[in-house]
Amino acid sequence: QLSSSSLTSFANARIEAQNGEERVINLDHGDPTMYEKYWQQEGDKTTIVIPGWQSLSYFSDVSNICWFLEPEFAKEVVRLHKVVGNAITENRHIVVGTGSTQLFQAALYALSPQDALEPISVVSAAPYYSSYPSITDCLKSGLYKWAGDAHSFKKEGPYIELVTSPNNPDGFVRQSVVNRNEGILVHDLAYYWPQYTSISFPADHDLMLFTVSKSTGHAGMRIGWAIVKDTEVAKKMTKYIELNTIGVSKDSQLRAAKVLKVVSNSCESSSSEGENFFEFSHNQLATRWELLRLAVQKSGQFTVPEFAPQFCTFLRRDFKPQPAFAWLKCEQEEVNDCESFLRSKKILTRSGKHFGFSPKYIRISMLDRDQNYNLFVQRLSNIISS
Ligand code: PMP
Repeated sequence: QLSSSSLTSFANARIEAQNGEERVINLDHGDPTMYEKYWQQEGDKTTIVIPGWQSLSYFSDVSNICWFLEPEFAKEVVRLHKVVGNAITENRHIVVGTGSTQLFQAALYALSPQDALEPISVVSAAPYYSSYPSITDCLKSGLYKWAGDAHSFKKEGPYIELVTSPNNPDGFVRQSVVNRNEGILVHDLAYYWPQYTSISFPADHDLMLFTVSKSTGHAGMRIGWAIVKDTEVAKKMTKYIELNTIGVSKDSQLRAAKVLKVVSNSCESSSSEGENFFEFSHNQLATRWELLRLAVQKSGQFTVPEFAPQFCTFLRRDFKPQPAFAWLKCEQEEVNDCESFLRSKKILTRSGKHFGFSPKYIRISMLDRDQNYNLFVQRLSNIISS
């Protein structure tokens, strides 16, 4: 059921479209501004004050392997995973990073054999997150090298496979595909949260990456965390971050701790603690997916993935995945480059070719502000066969 406020803003988008206002709609990046509404609604609950005499030392907790990890942040990470039930944290190391982007690089550094004759291959099943190849190869490392689509990876010997679940760009739940015993897995679980997908079990992989960018929407805070089983791997990841940035902003960690705390509180108690963050964002995305499917149906020129419902142990109901991105296929035979086609309609998207896939596909962010999103679905629904 669509809420009255979403219908109002959808109607406003229609009026704007009728007024002939053809502004460019940029849905290329996964900028999570959709979440502003929730945090504005919660007012000062997440406000913190940091006096000038705080955060002077480089060190946060010298007794921890990750010596720049703020204990308060670590505590709230553990608590949130327990509340949501999406990852095991007991007897694991937590390594904080400047976004999960830094942790991904720390993981490559930590998992690569240091004395190998050639760089270890890094693979992921296409369509894969478009930043993996460029991040992996930007410094032309002697330790690791991008080797493309995991489906067609045939080389013998050790390799690192990146498993993104749910996946960016297509939203499907995934497992490793190479399945040879010399594989080292990195699980990027940026989207394993109940606004996007059913939580079916607490994830328990060797190395898991999470980020506030996609969980709470605070991408600008630049905070991510890794949950790591192996002590030596946690030590090496910490070493990489020490070499790279001598730690991670304490101010950001303290803000992130407060935001995670408010999210956990919102899940655990009744209305006095504010609206349940995941219910709110889940409902927002449900409305958006409903509007998208209606627009795709009206247009008749595109298809979007179909998902099967699954039981969510957190929200305690069955639902279908509602990913942070829509993976749209242009069905018109004459359109080979869907990104250019939509650019001609002043909608900026990211071509399937950046994800190791066909340019008939494009990725669209579902996490923009209401006004932009509604204008987009309105414009999409008006693309009809000539
Ligand atoms: N992994 C995946 C799968 C992502 O989609 C993103 C963000 N687009 C990241 C990692 C990077 O997140 P962060 O902002 O924490 O660096």
